Amino acid sequence: MNPPEHKEIRQLARRFLEEAEPALAEYEAREAFPWPLVRRMGELGFLGVFVPEELGGAGLDFWAYIALLEELGGYASLRSILSVQQSLVLTPLLAYGTQDQKERYVPRLARGEVLGAYGLTEPEAGSDAGSLRTRAYRERDHYVLEGQKTFISHANVAEVFLIFAKTDPEKGNKGITAFLAEREDGVRTTPLKGKLGLKAADTGMIFLEGVRIPKERVLGGEGDGFKIALSTLDTGRISLAAGAVGLMQRALDLSLAYAKERHQFGRPIAAFQLVQAHLAEMKVDLEASRLLTYQAVAKKLRGERYTLEASMAKLFASEAANRVAYRAIQVHGGYGFFEEYEVARLYRDARILTLYEGTSEIQKLVIGAHLTGIRAFSH
Ligand SMILES: Cc1cc2nc3c(=O)[nH]c(=O)nc-3n(C[C@H](O)[C@H](O)[C@H](O)COP(=O)(O)OP(=O)(O)OC[C@H]3O[C@@H](n4cnc5c(N)ncnc54)[C@H](O)[C@@H]3O)c2cc1C
Repeated sequence: MNPPEHKEIRQLARRFLEEAEPALAEYEAREAFPWPLVRRMGELGFLGVFVPEELGGAGLDFWAYIALLEELGGYASLRSILSVQQSLVLTPLLAYGTQDQKERYVPRLARGEVLGAYGLTEPEAGSDAGSLRTRAYRERDHYVLEGQKTFISHANVAEVFLIFAKTDPEKGNKGITAFLAEREDGVRTTPLKGKLGLKAADTGMIFLEGVRIPKERVLGGEGDGFKIALSTLDTGRISLAAGAVGLMQRALDLSLAYAKERHQFGRPIAAFQLVQAHLAEMKVDLEASRLLTYQAVAKKLRGERYTLEASMAKLFASEAANRVAYRAIQVHGGYGFFEEYEVARLYRDARILTLYEGTSEIQKLVIGAHLTGIRAFSH
């Protein structure tokens, strides 16, 4: 598999990161959203990489998006902003949106003028997303939304919200519908602070109390919501795997540099076989994750169903990123335990990868269902 290298976008990303790094560290320390960096990502075309130019995007291919996710993967708060905007919001809009919906939302999202959020999870509906309780009641030419969402990325900074709600609870998953809500409709949000990692990325709750949405803002058809939610997560899982690859690359690069520079027993620690073993295990985890990710992307781009490949890539790469971040700290010794060293942040940031867009347990059940033909997690 030889994906296009996309050297230019990689170089652009590296230059952006060099400039952004000091400011990002401050936003991380303050748990503040890095608006100026997000605006810059928008100007550089990072927030609509694969969106066609006529819809305001950079018009590149999906591999360019993967390249960017790898480059930004070591800066997980920024990587998260990139993937929420594109995998979770722009992808379903492009796939299911009407011409009017695309014209209304895609250009502003692709240019980073506004941010979007993907509202599936609720306090009582996490892994079991189909049990969501948010209701949408039809009233003539609009719907009225009532409910709550939690753990939503971009909740407090987004203007556009993809909200999944039940229009027909009797029909189970087939009674779920996707809506395009806007902050101006009366969507209320509140921040959730104190995360272990992704400290500069926004997370919050969404409150929908009598929010009226015109019927033209249903995405897909009534009852298509769960299908849209799951197909969106397939792309999301690939982007998390690519982000994990980037995190591992950063952890390995930092560990290699440190191992060559740090001396003990009169030699660089890189000369010790047990330190080399850490570095070797890190490299193998990184490359295996990269191959699984590229395999999933290639299948998606051939237009084939890639749910299995996306789950395998997400499961392996997210667990591998945690192993790699652990080893990175081990190579750094006590110094790695201090925030002054970047590997401390990588260790914290790696932790989210096995949790969101389907926990590792859920990925195993998706893979198990493909193997056995039996879904272990249906009601
Ligand atoms: C920082 C952050 C950002 C997020 N961003 C978004 C977002 O933008 N949009 C959105 O909709 N959601 C978002 N989420 C929510 C995320 O997707 C959920 O947290 C995740 O799906 C798990 O749900 P839960 O936290 O309720 O855990 P639970 O579902 O309660 O799971 C708890 C544990 O039980 C296990 N478990 C559950 N069911 C089974 C089963 N059948 N078999 C075996 N084990 C099982 C899980 O694997 C896990 O180990 C975000 C979460 C975080 C932390």
